[in-house]
Amino acid sequence: MSRYIDIAVNLLSPSLIEHADNIINDAERLNVSPLIVIGSDLNESLAAHELALQYPRQLKTTAGVHPHQANLWDEHSISDLKRLASLSSVVAIGECGLDYNRDFSPRDQQRAAFEAQLALAAELNMPVLMHCREAFGDFIAILSHYRSAIPYAVLHCFTGNQDDLTQCLALDLHIGITGWVCDERRGKELAQLVPSIPDSRLLIETDSPYLLPRSMRPKPKSSKNLPQYLPYILDYIAEIREQDATELARICYLNSCTVFGLEPVT
Ligand SMILES: [Zn+2]
Repeated sequence: MSRYIDIAVNLLSPSLIEHADNIINDAERLNVSPLIVIGSDLNESLAAHELALQYPRQLKTTAGVHPHQANLWDEHSISDLKRLASLSSVVAIGECGLDYNRDFSPRDQQRAAFEAQLALAAELNMPVLMHCREAFGDFIAILSHYRSAIPYAVLHCFTGNQDDLTQCLALDLHIGITGWVCDERRGKELAQLVPSIPDSRLLIETDSPYLLPRSMRPKPKSSKNLPQYLPYILDYIAEIREQDATELARICYLNSCTVFGLEPVT
C-alpha cells in the first residue's frame, strides 16, 4: 500500500481540532502519515507542537506567521519564533508569505514578516513552507534574495499561472498541489499546468479543512476537507499527469521526506 505525507494540515482550526484524534487515526489507517500541522501564528505554532507531543509518530509541525497574521509581527516575534523553531516536532519555518488576494494584513507588514522569516530559515538552515496569493511579483523578488541560503523552499497550495510556475521552478521551489486541481471550474488552469511540474519538485497536500476536492464521488457529507482524502487527490493528479499512481505516490512521499528531513518508512 502506498504511503503519503500531507504537507499542509490546518489541524488547529476550530472545525478540525475537536476531532483531531479521529482525523489522525483515520488518516494513518490509509497510510497518510505523518501529517504536517501548520502553525499560522506564534500561538498556534506552539499549540501545534503541544499536540504533536501526543502523537510523535503521526504529527510534525511548522512554526511561523501566515501573511493574514502579519499584523501581529513585532520586534519580539523573531526571538519567539527562533525558540519555537528548535522544538522537536518542528520541521520547517512557515507558513509564511504574501496574500494580496485577501489583504487581511497591510502589505508592507506582510513583506516585512515574510522577509524576516526567510532570513531566519537561512540562519537556521531550515526548510520553509510558503503561501502566495496574487502577489507573485513581490514574492519572487523577496525570495530571490534568500533562496540560495535556504535548503528547501515549498510553495504550498500553488494556484498561479504558467509564468508564476516557471519563475518558481527557476528558483528551485517545491510545488504543493491541493484538491483545488479537482475543481472543474476554478482548477482548470492548474490542471493544465500540473503535468509540467517535474517529478522531483512535486508535493501533495489537502490544506484541510479547506479545499475539499469537488470531484469526489460519492460526495462526502461534510464540506470539510480531511487528510484521509489525500490518496484521492494523488490519484487525480496521477491521471492528469498520465503517470502510474503507485509510482507517483512513491515519488511524492520521498520528495516530502527529503524536504522536511523525515526518515522514509519502508
Ligand atoms: Zn496557505
